[in-house]
Amino acid sequence: MEKIVIITGGSRGIGAATARLAAQQGYSVCVNYRQNREVANKVTEELKELGSTAISVAANIAIESDVIRLFNTVDERLGKLTALVNNAGILEPQMRVEQMDSDRLNRVFATNVIGGFLCAREAIKRMSTKHGGVGGAIVNVSSGAARLGSPGEYVDYAASKGAIDTLTIGLAQEVADEGIRVNAVRPGFIDTEIHASGGEPNRIERIKEFIPLKRGGKAVEVARAILWLLSSEASYTTGSFIDVTGGK
Ligand code: NAP
Repeated sequence: MEKIVIITGGSRGIGAATARLAAQQGYSVCVNYRQNREVANKVTEELKELGSTAISVAANIAIESDVIRLFNTVDERLGKLTALVNNAGILEPQMRVEQMDSDRLNRVFATNVIGGFLCAREAIKRMSTKHGGVGGAIVNVSSGAARLGSPGEYVDYAASKGAIDTLTIGLAQEVADEGIRVNAVRPGFIDTEIHASGGEPNRIERIKEFIPLKRGGKAVEVARAILWLLSSEASYTTGSFIDVTGGK
């Protein structure tokens, strides 16, 4: 069966590493991104060089009509979806909860939570045996922050990832007998550009001594866990979590 995956936020960081590994493992890949077309197209060209059928689609996952267009584009250009990596996520400058306004909270929850739900919904419509699909797999990219809470940095972000953990548990059971497995990875301290959005590009350097493995992780180290959860090697695993946090 042809393997077709949508990776939200696939143009950079963990998403791009996942896209490369998926291409190497024979997937046709849709690289979704929000705004940076040049970077997304560069990743897509790399995937094609790896022999994959790859497309990039700009869509803001926080906007319902964008999500619908993203999935419709994949139907038309790649074929029947078999996998979703719910990876796109944002965080905002570090601050305490007492300083957070509702605009910020709405932005974080709209992308990290509502976006994840909307993409899962569209994937289920295509993959569920209840809707005539052949099944598939969803991997949600949560965060170790869901367990740790990120005090003084971004409790809002951590709480949004807590919601993704709960989505993973509930949805896994909801669609278990419809051929769909739903799991999550919880990365932590991975060397990507997301830390610059928090106002501290060198955050990992500051905290690495508190990580049991004494270093930050690489995006590909998260991608390997994602690809395993998507694969038939994980055929009896659903509603599960893999922490990729260097032991923290
Ligand atoms: P990143 O380097 O900042 O990349 C973010 C990606 O998401 C980009 O491709 C970006 O596209 C896209 N994106 C952002 N908002 C979007 C939206 N509304 N709609 C569609 N695409 C959107 O992030 P990362 O570090 O690889 O993180 C990926 C995931 O892992 C996130 O869910 C993050 O919370 C989680 N995570 C990361 C770490 C870490 O240490 N890095 C730790 C735990 C969890 P544009 O560039 O076009 O905006």
